[in-house]
Amino acid sequence: MTIDEGYIKYDSDWTPGPAPDQELTSLLNSWRRPLFDAGLIGHYKDLGVGYGNLSVRLGSSEQFIISGTQTGHIADTDGQHYAHVTRYDINRNRVSSVGPAQASSESLTHAAIYELSNAINAVVHVHSRALWDELRDQLPTTAAEVSYGTPEMAREFTRLYGDTSFRASGVAVMAGHDEGIISIGRDLEEAATRILALAQ
Ligand SMILES: [Zn+2]
Repeated sequence: MTIDEGYIKYDSDWTPGPAPDQELTSLLNSWRRPLFDAGLIGHYKDLGVGYGNLSVRLGSSEQFIISGTQTGHIADTDGQHYAHVTRYDINRNRVSSVGPAQASSESLTHAAIYELSNAINAVVHVHSRALWDELRDQLPTTAAEVSYGTPEMAREFTRLYGDTSFRASGVAVMAGHDEGIISIGRDLEEAATRILALAQ
């Protein structure tokens, strides 16, 4: 198995700054905690890298608040563990973020998904060996040769949203990203609940 999690592949323009809106980071933590307890967000001890991340859109903008890179081992997060993505360029693999933590290495995947529809206001990305084995090619699945954090992955989600049940069911498997699963929702509760329901 190759886990390419946790390494920032994009050109990261990070400006250290104050914690994002406290109401939003509390909401993020409240849905992150059951995902963490289920092992869907966490930390590979042997590899020393965290996995899983979640975000919410800021109002109706193209900006979002996302969990920071290398926070997977933390059970209860607070504002110090989040970043505000202010700008990005998918084709140039570039992300600008502000906050106490540097934005997750999968920020561009989240950005690409928010671009699909303004009805999508939250994105959850988890890892699960069991769900990945069970649901790959059963649920909408990105192409196996496409790895995470690439412009090609962004195009894969456009394809799934247009051509499969992903738009309605809100869950997709990333065949080219070991153990990787993504859910979307009108709000964070819907996105998180879709994954938690599968894990039960
Ligand atoms: Zn991942």
